[in-house]
Parts: sequence; structure tokens; C-alpha cells
Amino acid sequence: MKKTPIGHVTCPVCDFADAQVKEDKNGHAYIHCSDCNAQTFTRNDFRNSKLRGRMRAVTVTVPDDTVTVTAPVPVPKAPEKPVPVPPPAKKPGGWLQPLLAQG
Ligand SMILES: [Zn+2]
Repeated sequence: MKKTPIGHVTCPVCDFADAQVKEDKNGHAYIHCSDCNAQTFTRNDFRNSKLRGRMRAVTVTVPDDTVTVTAPVPVPKAPEKPVPVPPPAKKPGGWLQPLLAQG
């Protein structure tokens, strides 16, 4: 039966950063380095608690869908462009037009 690691420590033998910490049949933590294959047993409660104290515990075992990242979502705001007011249509001739028409 493959044991599930309960945490990780740096291997005391080869300095591998992610040596696994597992529990033996007595519930005592021990180090099993997957790199150099060394096993470091605690065998008693004192060393067990010391090792558990310094290991990086495996906390995430099951993907939790309830955790959602709540990043502030910027509300898309429609850019308010000033509506260009068309200049008043110039009549050719303007106020002179009647005079010109007469000419
Ligand atoms: Zn090692």
C-alpha cells in the first residue's frame, strides 16, 4: 500500500528540498526521500512532533471548488464620447442670398 505523504522537508542526507514526510504504522512521522531514497524515522513522540513542526504540511488534498478567487472585476464602462454637434448648415450666401437672388 502506497502511503500518502503528510508533508515535505529538506532531506537531511542529500538536501533534496521535497523529501516526503509520511507516517509509520505507529503514527510517527518519518522522512522518505524520493531522491536519495534515505529514510529517517522518528520512532518516538518527541522526534515525531519535532519533525511535524518543521515539515511543510500537505494541506490541499482535494480540489475545492467552493474556493473562488474574488478579484475585483472592473465594470466595463461605455466611453462617453461627447456627441459632436454639427455646425449649423450654412446657406450659401447667408443673409445676402435674397439680395443676390435679385441681382
Ligand atoms: Zn535525500
